[in-house]
Amino acid sequence: MTMNSQGRPSAPAADKQAELPTISGDRGLDHEEKLIFELGRAGVSGVDLPDVAVSDVRLGGLRRRDAIGLPGLSEPEVVRHYVRLSRMNYAIDAGLYPLGSCTMKHNPRLNEKLARLPGFADLHPLAPLPASQGALALIAELSRWLTTLTGMPAVAMSPKAGAHGELCGILTIRAAVEARGEARTRVLVPESAHGTNPATAAFAGFTVDEVKATPEGRVDMASLKEKLGPDVAAFMLTNPNTCGLFERDVLEIADMIHAAGAYFYCDGANFNAIAGRVRPGDLGVDAMHINLHKTFSTPHGGGGPGAGPVVLSERLAAYAPLPLLVHDAKGFRLIEDESALPAGAKPFGRMSAFHGQMGMFVRALAYMLSHGRDGIRQASEDAVLSANYILASLKDVMSAPYEGPCMHEALFDDTFLHDTGVTTLDFAKAMIDEGYHPMTMYFPLVVHGAMLIEPTESESKESLDRFIQVLRAMALDAKARQRARFEGAPRLVPRRRLDETSASRKPVLRWKTPDLPKAAE
Ligand SMILES: *Cc1c(COP(=O)(O)O)cnc(C)c1O
Repeated sequence: MTMNSQGRPSAPAADKQAELPTISGDRGLDHEEKLIFELGRAGVSGVDLPDVAVSDVRLGGLRRRDAIGLPGLSEPEVVRHYVRLSRMNYAIDAGLYPLGSCTMKHNPRLNEKLARLPGFADLHPLAPLPASQGALALIAELSRWLTTLTGMPAVAMSPKAGAHGELCGILTIRAAVEARGEARTRVLVPESAHGTNPATAAFAGFTVDEVKATPEGRVDMASLKEKLGPDVAAFMLTNPNTCGLFERDVLEIADMIHAAGAYFYCDGANFNAIAGRVRPGDLGVDAMHINLHKTFSTPHGGGGPGAGPVVLSERLAAYAPLPLLVHDAKGFRLIEDESALPAGAKPFGRMSAFHGQMGMFVRALAYMLSHGRDGIRQASEDAVLSANYILASLKDVMSAPYEGPCMHEALFDDTFLHDTGVTTLDFAKAMIDEGYHPMTMYFPLVVHGAMLIEPTESESKESLDRFIQVLRAMALDAKARQRARFEGAPRLVPRRRLDETSASRKPVLRWKTPDLPKAAE
């Protein structure tokens, strides 16, 4: 891929006509948008503020030497900037979003309506207790749903994402190991695990040790047995796993872990496949984070706001982090420090300044109450059905690495692209030209050129049929070596194929846009 001088991809020759540059740099209603720092001008403001009396006594006489460099724009310019950016974004409200492992389900508008109720939306986290009783009651009610659905006795609500929840769970386990006076320094993680699992264990100071997968895509029991020992603190398992398969040996796995004196951590990101059907507590799980933003709708927004409450077994409950929510004759209250702990509580510390993501809590509870327990179970069943429909409809033209039905996501590998000159990356990028967000690719790592598709329960059969039709045609084109639609894809978007590695390692946050060309004389 070649770039022109502005770092924008140049078009292959065949596209010359479509790529004829416009005078403005915009393409129809797709606006080329500068960074807000490039748009802003010094001295411009969207609001009229009174002049401030300059005083030397503020901040003890400290004076700022330079302007702080905030971009100056009028209010309509700010509104247009963000609206234009939002139109470049793909969203679940715009189309099917098959990103495996992410559970991109519809976020019902009812959730949004309730989260905007001023009593929830405008409540300050430091508001006095009598003013926050309703919010605390909501947190307690959501906790009850989570412990009921998972069959676990306790839950820590404050973690703000799945990965943050993992850290909370592993720190809880570390506290329990330390309380036992043991030196357990290793955490076992399957080969197929999500990258956050080993990262979490390493961040918490443990050595990470990999457990192998069987050719059927599940935990290799012999490898687990061999790795377990008196220095193992925990085994982290995702179930259903990241290959979209239920770990059938999970009860035996739990027994083995417990017999070795270790704790069983479950990555609950895939709870959408089993919610309402299987209670992780019954499987012997000691700690599991729940991505409210996956299983219980609520938006995933650019790394946040998410919410990753962690359910805990009897053995770990005492170590749950502060704050602790308690209810007594005077109503709800939060225990914020070590001086007022209830009997037996030994919190390891705290995960965040306040109580968690209130807005996400309201949305998740709204989703639960509007579905009911039977509705949640049906959502899980429909998600599994949708994924199996995709697997069954595509496995003759794409290649599925594992035999048999899947859970909530369908996994393909790149065997079907062998010798075609088309890679998983090309295939995924060509989907963008077809109006689809790509599936998760090259994950899990145990499968070559992986493509992981999670349709969720949100999609209608018509929507799935159209998706299948497009992917079938693409797969057949690739096999027929019709490479045109894959080479350099995507073609029909504001940005072509980006160098994603450099974009994250060497981000260019200020980019000079070209001057407008002069009109021909
Ligand atoms: C999404 C996900 C995570 C991380 O959750 P975040 O909320 O993105 O931090 C962890 N494990 C698995 C399997 C996931 O799919």
